[in-house]
Amino acid sequence: MTATATRVLVLNSGSSSVKYQLIDMNDGTRLAVGLVERIGEQTSRLAHTPLAAGGDKRETEGAIADHDAALKAVAAELAADGLGLDSPQLAAIGHRVVHGGLKFTEPTVIDDAVLKEIERLVPVAPLHNPANITGIRTAQAMRPDLPQVAVFDTAFHATMPEYAARYAIDVETADAHRIRRYGFHGTSHAYVSRKTAALLGKDPSEVNVIVLHLGNGASASAVAGGRCVDTSMGLTPLEGLVMGTRSGDIDPAVTFHLKRVAGMSTDEIDVLLNKKSGLIGLCGDNDMREIRRRIDEGDERARLAFDIYIHRLKKYIGAYSAVLGRVDAVAFTAGVGENAAPVREAAVAGLEEMGMAVDASLNAVRSDEPRLISPEYARVAVAVVPTDEELEIAQQTYALVNA
Ligand code: ADP
Repeated sequence: MTATATRVLVLNSGSSSVKYQLIDMNDGTRLAVGLVERIGEQTSRLAHTPLAAGGDKRETEGAIADHDAALKAVAAELAADGLGLDSPQLAAIGHRVVHGGLKFTEPTVIDDAVLKEIERLVPVAPLHNPANITGIRTAQAMRPDLPQVAVFDTAFHATMPEYAARYAIDVETADAHRIRRYGFHGTSHAYVSRKTAALLGKDPSEVNVIVLHLGNGASASAVAGGRCVDTSMGLTPLEGLVMGTRSGDIDPAVTFHLKRVAGMSTDEIDVLLNKKSGLIGLCGDNDMREIRRRIDEGDERARLAFDIYIHRLKKYIGAYSAVLGRVDAVAFTAGVGENAAPVREAAVAGLEEMGMAVDASLNAVRSDEPRLISPEYARVAVAVVPTDEELEIAQQTYALVNA
């Protein structure tokens, strides 16, 4: 890396998609952002926005066979703007890796041993780690000389005490199969809890925050003095809050029941709970905008789905208030948390005795900036804090390669 190398390419490789951002670390400026979708299908789509060049979004459709072809297409788009992967200004590539197990609790420069260990974690993250590994291998092949850094979704939760991380099942069985609460969305929980402290004018070490990351996937965390002490997702991202397509918390006996009584296979149950449950299972829609629209039209199923979603959120706010003892702030983030004022209002409604309230006019404000939505009298700050996982990955990557 040269002294002029101040750019980081962030790659988030999913099973059929790659999201990317090229960020200048001098000031966090986005030079280019984009997304390749439906990799492996005839109808793949690449959408690239050259922000540095002030250009419009360029979209190309047509078959992109695999991640290798996808990254090559991304590299070509970047090169067309003079931002190619061969640029000496590129300092590193930062990869989002979903599962870091117990081993990876910090961002890590990827070498063969690290890659092997990420592969060893595939059994606990079968839906996510394989795609992350493919993305890493492809990027390595394109720039073998460049540091590639893995930033793990699980890492921020590594500080959870053992009594929060361990499930109450037979210890030998759990340990033999690495079964425990790992938690996910850690990059977002880290970023948002820190930003929330800044919004309060405090150091992260001084504040206790409940972070509610409500996207299509959703998770809550309890962060005490900058350290995660509990989180709602578990061995996999299935546990916890009601999500767009995932059930969240459910009696594990439901799975035996579905097997024994309904005759479903393990894979079918997996699909049911991960893809056909949550909001979509309850009302047929997983987009909160659509659900609110249906509620406004008097749709009962949409109303019930919303109420179940909110009830679960409230349970976690209550549980994490007890875990933290003192709560300084509740922070809403991600697609639903940042945009759905009715969700924020309903989640906090009735919690005045706990010092939590939402001011209707502040809650109605739309903005990309972190902001308070609680009235002045409230003991607990309620905040909307837009997440920025890409910037967090870029910052962690850049800090590591410059360390
Ligand atoms: P993920 O990264 O998990 O795919 P996001 O954090 O982008 O998800 O959140 C996507 C979700 O955010 C959508 O499914 C939708 O429910 C919700 N959402 C996005 N914009 C709005 C909006 N303006 N109002 C309400 N909900 C919204």
